[in-house]
Amino acid sequence: MPIKHNYSLETLRHSLAHITALAVLRLYRGQVCFGVGPVTEQGFYYDMEIKNSGQNSLSLEELPKIEEEVHKIIKEGLPFKKKTVSISEAKKIFKKLKQPYKLELLKDLEQYGTTVESQKSKIKSQKLKINKVKTVTIYQIGEFVDLCRGPHIRNTREMTLYFKLTKIAGAYWRGNEKNSMLTRIEGVAFETKAELEKYFDWLQEAERRDHRKLGRQLDLFTFSDLVGSGLPLFTPKGTIIIEELKKYIEGVCRKYGFEKVTTPSLAKIELFEISGHAQKFNDELFRVTSPKGHSFVLKPVQCPHHTQLYASRLRSYKELPIRYMESDKMYRAEKPGEVGGLSRVYAITVEDGHIFCRPDQVKDEIKNLVQIIKEFYSSLGLWENQWVSLSLRDYSHPEKYIGDPKDWDKCEKILQEISNVMDLQAKRREGEAALYGPKLDFMFKDALGNEIQIPTIQLDFATPKRFNLTYINEQGKAVNPVMIHRAILGSYERFLALLIEHFAGAFPLWLASVQIVLLPVSSKQAHYSQTVATTLRKEELRVEVWEDETISKRIRQAELQKIPYIIVLGDKEKKEKTVSVRERGSKVLTVLPLEQFLNKIKHELTKKK
Ligand SMILES: [Zn+2]
Ligand SMILES: [Zn+2]
Repeated sequence: MPIKHNYSLETLRHSLAHITALAVLRLYRGQVCFGVGPVTEQGFYYDMEIKNSGQNSLSLEELPKIEEEVHKIIKEGLPFKKKTVSISEAKKIFKKLKQPYKLELLKDLEQYGTTVESQKSKIKSQKLKINKVKTVTIYQIGEFVDLCRGPHIRNTREMTLYFKLTKIAGAYWRGNEKNSMLTRIEGVAFETKAELEKYFDWLQEAERRDHRKLGRQLDLFTFSDLVGSGLPLFTPKGTIIIEELKKYIEGVCRKYGFEKVTTPSLAKIELFEISGHAQKFNDELFRVTSPKGHSFVLKPVQCPHHTQLYASRLRSYKELPIRYMESDKMYRAEKPGEVGGLSRVYAITVEDGHIFCRPDQVKDEIKNLVQIIKEFYSSLGLWENQWVSLSLRDYSHPEKYIGDPKDWDKCEKILQEISNVMDLQAKRREGEAALYGPKLDFMFKDALGNEIQIPTIQLDFATPKRFNLTYINEQGKAVNPVMIHRAILGSYERFLALLIEHFAGAFPLWLASVQIVLLPVSSKQAHYSQTVATTLRKEELRVEVWEDETISKRIRQAELQKIPYIIVLGDKEKKEKTVSVRERGSKVLTVLPLEQFLNKIKHELTKKK
């Protein structure tokens, strides 16, 4: 008989974290110090220090044993006992239990009224008022006692989730590398067995599509210890994909009046002090100095450089809008431990753009930008399931933003109107705005169902004022233009990672680094292969000829490389001037005159298939 209850998934998952902690405590009696055990998107984790034969770690092999104990505890039907105590009483309890991490949390509660690090530092730096905490709640199951706000289930028997302990990882106490390293036991837990199974299918699919793995397999990018982590090197094949993306996005933007500009990576810090980025990025800025006394900053964003192109001469209202675009590297000093793959790197190549326009032009400009985003993402099959966020400021914390509140109101109104007119049905989300203004953010779902937030349109009345940018209006008066920041594909690095995973490495023809591979059956067709290759290359197609190994081995290799077209050339093809074509994903060989194949390919390329 299933047990009926009304607990939320969160309560159940969090209770499971406690049960897991008890299981560990039983198995490694008296040698466990507990950190925290919150819920996650798929389940929960618990951080703990396990002094197991002098080593603070567990091996993956021990998970089944812990899992078995968890099942046992559920069957035992132990009650979750809740107690409200004063902080000093709680301190006594955890001192007796020898739980230093819990004691640290209690100290924070006493001093700052919170255990959240970000709130703590805010209270310290801004001298905010502290919400006094007098009492805390303690939950106990068996001999495991936890400092916890709850809520929890009443009895372990009420644990109805289907779960699996999945991972053991190292995690710094409170995410700070200066603290000790704890062991994190992670689990996934769902309400039904089907959901749990679906999760593991998804995981398998995610591994199959993993961009780091496929990036190696398809030879798209690499890393070097000498160059450093977080600094990817793109191979010729990877570079082709990036260049094709660049060519395409720039072509689309050019249709809407964007012009390409080029600016240096370095600038004086003053540039970013005026823009406000120096303060905002602060410890994420790379500072560059030389023995000759130079002192520069590697640009963390493109906008300030573009304002200086605008400011290079006097502007008239007739010249506006001015639209700049640039694909260039930007630098962020990410935490060394956090860089990895293409998703988190030190230097990202951002496809960036800025519009300077008159207030009466703002709406049309934004409409065009929405068109660009739609055109670009539709062609990649990503436009479906999209939704739009109207990202507004956090009204209770105006100090986080720059600019005049009146301008903010105006901007928010404009974006809302555009959402209405274009039927974007933008969801209003407070606290998601940029430093200088509200924005429209476009969200997509990739093939794995992950939400991706890349394209953005941001209205900015503040930056032109900060840089004193002006134009002469119809009345002959110098006034500030409006600045619009826009990103379409974001950074090429992250976008490539996304596309690799989205297409599982099987890029559409126009993006594929090798579009066609020619496989002569024997050396007798070597000459004909070269003739075919030359004909195709004349049409700017990316062709390789593979002559080594047996034909079946080469076909297998071409499949692994996910090349869109495999062409087999034997004596018959040579004699009849034809090609035997095998499309990716199909086992059928179709014989076509070379000319006809060429037309088919050209047609597909124009349709961006
Ligand atoms: Zn808890
Ligand atoms: Zn910008």
